[in-house]
Amino acid sequence: MQEPTATFRFGNSYAEELLDFYVECDPMAVQEPELLQFNTSLATELGLGLEALASQDLAQIFSGQTLLDGSRPLAQAYAGHQFGGFSPQLGDGRGLLLGEVAGSNGDRRDIALKGSGPTVFSRGGDGKAAVGAVLREYLIGEAMHCLGIPTTRALAAVATGELVYRERPLPGAILTRVAASHIRVGTFQFFAARQRWDQVRQLANYAIERHDPQISTGHDNDPERYLALLQAVSERQAALIANWMLVGFIHGVMNTDNMAISGETIDYGPCAFMESFSPEAVFSSIDQQGRYAYKNQPQIAQWNLTRLAETLLPLIDEDDPEGAVPKVEAILNDFIPHYEELWLAGAQKKLGLENPTSDIDGDKLLLKDWLNLLELHSVDYTLAWRRLADAADGNLQALEALFPAGNILADWLARWHQRTAQQSASDTAERMRLVNPIYIPRNHLVEEALDSASEGDLQPFEGLLAVLKTPFAERPTLSRYATPAPKEFMDQYETFCGT
Ligand code: AMP
Ligand code: MG
Repeated sequence: MQEPTATFRFGNSYAEELLDFYVECDPMAVQEPELLQFNTSLATELGLGLEALASQDLAQIFSGQTLLDGSRPLAQAYAGHQFGGFSPQLGDGRGLLLGEVAGSNGDRRDIALKGSGPTVFSRGGDGKAAVGAVLREYLIGEAMHCLGIPTTRALAAVATGELVYRERPLPGAILTRVAASHIRVGTFQFFAARQRWDQVRQLANYAIERHDPQISTGHDNDPERYLALLQAVSERQAALIANWMLVGFIHGVMNTDNMAISGETIDYGPCAFMESFSPEAVFSSIDQQGRYAYKNQPQIAQWNLTRLAETLLPLIDEDDPEGAVPKVEAILNDFIPHYEELWLAGAQKKLGLENPTSDIDGDKLLLKDWLNLLELHSVDYTLAWRRLADAADGNLQALEALFPAGNILADWLARWHQRTAQQSASDTAERMRLVNPIYIPRNHLVEEALDSASEGDLQPFEGLLAVLKTPFAERPTLSRYATPAPKEFMDQYETFCGT
């Protein structure tokens, strides 16, 4: 085989600067890797220069069989609170960081494999991933990106040609993931749990340099810089969760090891987009208590940030960590108000309201009553907003069809029309369509696409992926992709964490 040539060389800042934070490890050997998907536009954006390679070469590279120039595969160490209980050692049990590339804006991005075989962190797991789970992460990540929500992204999916054993044997695959970094709240917890404060400090300094270089107050050990880091992470999370809530996304496993300090959505497992609006919605079969239900996501993010803050206390005040508590509390207490402000601003836009500051309390009430109507009548969350945009320029029919007969919306619509009376109707509708998607990854279509892909037919997957790339532009021929799942499907729908 001819050696593939790439125009870039991997960087290894994590490997070079954070010596105690990983274990080097080679990807497992794979007999017959076969390329399932390659994200050409992302490859171009990253300047990888791999676009012209044959798919067999790409399959070799993105299954870890061929290591590109400068690559130093390693498994990262991290801990984490899972469903509230602390595990002092998790780590990459089925993933490997290959290296880093500088993106077009100069930011460094990780390129990592998932499903590339066991590591020292596998804890009895096989280190593998199934085609369905890999393509699920690929699809939902791209959908999130195209909705404008910060997320890790898939660069490639490669079938291994081998079986992985879950509840039943499944075809195996490896995902290549691109991330602003893979530093998690749990990475800080790993060293804090061992009282290795020098390492926590090293990690915090690395994180600042990589994600928040603007925090340059004083020298390396100036306590203010760690408060500033917490503040920056907290602001990114508030924005991220507001985005999730506005689009109806439920992550499903918001454990501290699944919260990236970059503010990107990471680790798509049993996640889902809500269909009928219900604040209690939860899709993960292992989340029996509903800890990670839709409505709980802001509070859980704050809880996770509190775990991050705890790891930073000894950095903020070495002699009296307890004494630093009020300082971090001030930041943590700001989280929910800040989140609410961002959510409200986004929700006002979704409702088409101009001059969003003129009557905040009135707008809040209008939103609350709108959501109450959706909940009371189990209306599809995505379609409700979208058809409201259509109602803004006179087409009421499609909106009313989502509700039971009997003028249920009349009072609320009268209030909304009054609020928007001074605005141009067509402008309002247009602006609303830019923030209220018509296409989201509908759960039944995702499952259908993954089932077919697992049987070797990628066409439904590629069709769905193509639609989700332009989620705000309605195309009449694609009505199937905008239609909610049949009721029977949602009644029994659960996604499983056994990914
Ligand atoms: P996740 O549920 O993907 O967030 O993973 C939680 C932890 O379990 C992480 O440390 C993973 O590396 C590990 N893990 C999940 N699946 C496997 C697997 N099949 N083999 C080894 N480790 C795994
Ligand atoms: Mg994880």
